[in-house]
Amino acid sequence: MTDTIRTDVAIVGGGLAGLTAAVALRDSGLSTLVVEEDSILGGRARSWIDEKTGDPVHIGPHIFLSEYPNMRKLLGLLGTEDRLVWQRGRFIFMVDGRSEIEFRMARLPAPFQFIPSLLADPAIRHRDLASNVPVSLFALRLTEHDIERLDNVNASAVLRSLGVTERFIQRFWAFTSMAIMNVPLELCSAGALFRFYRRLIGHTRYDVGFPDGGLGDLFAPQAKALIERSGGRIMLGARVVTFTGDATRATGLELADGRRVEARFCIAALPPSALRRIARPEWLPGPVFRDLVRFQPCPYVSTYLWFDRKLTRRQFWARVHDPNDLNCDFYDLSNINRGWESRPSLITTNCIFCERAAGMSDEQIVQGTVRELSEYLPEAARAKLVHWVVNRIPMAIHCPFPGTEQRRPTLRPGPKNLLLAGDWIRTRLPSSMESACMAGWQAAEAVLADLGRPASLAVPHKDIDGVAGLLYRTTRWAPVPHLPGWVRATGRIAA
Ligand SMILES: Cc1cc2nc3c(=O)[nH]c(=O)nc-3n(C[C@H](O)[C@H](O)[C@H](O)COP(=O)(O)OP(=O)(O)OC[C@H]3O[C@@H](n4cnc5c(N)ncnc54)[C@H](O)[C@@H]3O)c2cc1C
Repeated sequence: MTDTIRTDVAIVGGGLAGLTAAVALRDSGLSTLVVEEDSILGGRARSWIDEKTGDPVHIGPHIFLSEYPNMRKLLGLLGTEDRLVWQRGRFIFMVDGRSEIEFRMARLPAPFQFIPSLLADPAIRHRDLASNVPVSLFALRLTEHDIERLDNVNASAVLRSLGVTERFIQRFWAFTSMAIMNVPLELCSAGALFRFYRRLIGHTRYDVGFPDGGLGDLFAPQAKALIERSGGRIMLGARVVTFTGDATRATGLELADGRRVEARFCIAALPPSALRRIARPEWLPGPVFRDLVRFQPCPYVSTYLWFDRKLTRRQFWARVHDPNDLNCDFYDLSNINRGWESRPSLITTNCIFCERAAGMSDEQIVQGTVRELSEYLPEAARAKLVHWVVNRIPMAIHCPFPGTEQRRPTLRPGPKNLLLAGDWIRTRLPSSMESACMAGWQAAEAVLADLGRPASLAVPHKDIDGVAGLLYRTTRWAPVPHLPGWVRATGRIAA
């Protein structure tokens, strides 16, 4: 097959970033074509129907935050925002064996909203909590410039230099690094972690939510329908092998079946490794492309367990951090999906940065997961497991290792008419669904700007508020107080 398809905008990748970009351009008068190699849309947020039970299964459980304005804008347009199930007020439920610690956002201005929950945690002494005050003040005052400088060092070294106690590091920071940044604390960029922490304690109120049903069902069919209704096209099962063009510009795509796409603009809505595979060889020595190998994938294993009985009424909980654990976070979909309240438990879990599961068989992963589950819910050991699924996911997000944050590219990587989207580009957000959607809106803005039709599509994130915001606004011009002495001594943060 050698026919040529012509379009104004060719979008490679039908994940959240690519679909958002296509939806954003739907009324622009430009023709769009989304090329997706998988047989279903949604990428790392896709879901499908489990053959045995007929239940929707996502690639792995995901959470939403109410502060996901770009994703919520997409869902609003698609008419599915009401299919998010929110757990109001509660942030996370931690379990330590059978004991439970509830992290709620108290009705206090930021950054004090988590303090009552931390004070109620029996494993944290007042001295531990007090040791976290300097790092909190430090984080709240960070500018983007400071965050880039802190990207060179690992978070655990900075926390220790700032005097945080070992107990607080293990209880709070090691968990946050693994659960949110998806890497162990010793391997996490201090800049990436502190940027997240600044937002976490800097917002007075946000909620955690889940999809009601299949994650992909929240956006993939609706986005497809909207794009096609506006004259756009979506090709599934179509793999791009390379961009066409030359050293200085992109002119289109070449597909694995020999077809070619000619396009005025190409949007690569892909993870870094996939972009590298299809980049033209002349582009690879360039500043953005040569850094692509630095974005290492964080692998996950997500396990689904169908039990014969109800094990809990909880929706979502996480184990306190232990490096020897298999799973981090647990969800009972029978308590999340609307109308499933009377069903037996369908538990799903995430094993994050899951090198430790690489040598395990699926059966061993299921056994290990049931064992961990029954430490909190002993009934799980007695219940019958009716069915299970283990999803091995090569990449959930890229690992925010030191040095990665400053290499996240802007959406213009160099070659003319080529734009980047995807969760990993420089959105100043952790790689996430929100970052992917923001990147999609921004890529569409860039296309329109190049045509002399500037538009404002991406939703900027609100800055921190409450006392935290006041502190930032009144003191941000002063230099950050004390960058840890050893950091200055080793010169690893250049002033
Ligand atoms: C198990 C798991 C749990 C997660 N938990 C959360 C969470 O709780 N909250 C959160 O916000 N985020 C979470 N994430 C991250 C989130 O899913 C991603 O950040 C987001 O979906 C990335 O979207 P994207 O469009 O940037 O990339 P992708 O979804 O990867 O889209 C890229 C698309 O490009 C396609 N493609 C690749 N190469 C080619 C080619 N050569 N030709 C054609 N098509 C190609 C791929 O098939 C894919 O569909 C999680 C991810 C996983 C896997």
